[in-house]
Amino acid sequence: MPLAYDVVVVGGGPAGLSVAEKVAQHGFSVAVLEEHGEIGRPLKCTGILLERDIRALGLEIPEEIVLFRTHEFVLHVRNKLVELSLPPFEILVTDRPKLDKWLAKKSAEAGADLFLAHKCSAVERKGDRWKVRARESYACSFLVEADGISQDVSRILGKAENLKPMPCLQYEVAWACKEVHVFLWGDGFGWVVPSGRRSRVGVATRFGLLSRIKELMRSLGIPYKPVSAVSASFPTSGPLPCAFGSFFKVGDCAGHVNPLVGAGIASSIMAGRIVGEAIAGKVPDPSKKIDEEFGESFRLYRRLREYLERNPSSVFALTDSRIPSLLESDMLGEFAKLLIQEPSLLEALFRHGRRILRLI
Ligand SMILES: Cc1cc2nc3c(=O)[nH]c(=O)nc-3n(C[C@H](O)[C@H](O)[C@H](O)COP(=O)(O)OP(=O)(O)OC[C@H]3O[C@@H](n4cnc5c(N)ncnc54)[C@H](O)[C@@H]3O)c2cc1C
Repeated sequence: MPLAYDVVVVGGGPAGLSVAEKVAQHGFSVAVLEEHGEIGRPLKCTGILLERDIRALGLEIPEEIVLFRTHEFVLHVRNKLVELSLPPFEILVTDRPKLDKWLAKKSAEAGADLFLAHKCSAVERKGDRWKVRARESYACSFLVEADGISQDVSRILGKAENLKPMPCLQYEVAWACKEVHVFLWGDGFGWVVPSGRRSRVGVATRFGLLSRIKELMRSLGIPYKPVSAVSASFPTSGPLPCAFGSFFKVGDCAGHVNPLVGAGIASSIMAGRIVGEAIAGKVPDPSKKIDEEFGESFRLYRRLREYLERNPSSVFALTDSRIPSLLESDMLGEFAKLLIQEPSLLEALFRHGRRILRLI
């Protein structure tokens, strides 16, 4: 006999765990099937969260999950330095496996059942129920796909989307810094993120990950001695529709990720909660609600990414007259709007050379 649940969630990342917590809070029985034997592993993330997003989500993240906090942000455009003076929001570098385990604990406390080392291998619709096969069989009324970029469930159902995955390579290195560095190259970007005594160095590009990461490390004088490496992708085609009757998609598999910079932890948690509310009958149209939360800005970032990939030799432009408008509201959103309205701005950063601004 299959195990019977109201809801089965495939995938134990931030999106799936947030759906599970929400539906369990509403009294639904819910199983989370996670293919790996440990929540949060293998690591495929840098772990950055903005303090303002944590506040907006009302997350009370335990301090042991936070590896580093900083207001310092340095932007490198084609390896020239542009330090930005931005609104005072704090960047938190988290221990992502611990963060996911904490989310898992919260969903279990709400009543969700977690099944580790349970890879979903088959899904079928029988009458008004879903049959799901992992190590055991499950029957449920609502099926939630939260399996990330793999889209395993959609593939089984023959409904996989082209998520236009952006390949990334990230190293952990024994090199310490106090600020977050972001490198823009037009056709991709790179980062150096402090995590205490070590740093996470990464690149996202469709062209030559290895040469780019070596170039980035050389430019900051970081010895090429990776302690560990992560190879993964983030979707750049979202946000996509996420509700199909009793079937829902959430998180990376639905493009709930900023297509410009690949940030998706906070948006996946938010989308997961909305899908949970929809299953509980509290939100009539989750795709619309998610769209209201971040659809407009993500579409803007997607257009900017597409523009940059079509014009890889272009570079961002910031002129002194533009900076005040950037400071007034959400920096990245304003930045994206400016660039889409005036793509000609994309050259000036080269010309303007060194400009020193700071996050505080
Ligand atoms: C290199 C890199 C760095 C990133 N850094 C950041 C960052 O600093 N900040 C940020 O906000 N975002 C970052 N992101 C994006 C962020 O990691 C994702 O957006 C976020 O993890 C999405 O959560 P999710 O739950 O949708 O997917 P995931 O976290 O990928 O979780 C999906 C889960 O489903 C499981 N699964 C897959 N298939 C099956 C199956 N068939 N059966 C059972 N389980 C299955 C997987 O094992 C996994 O645990 C980064 C992404 C990359 C690639």
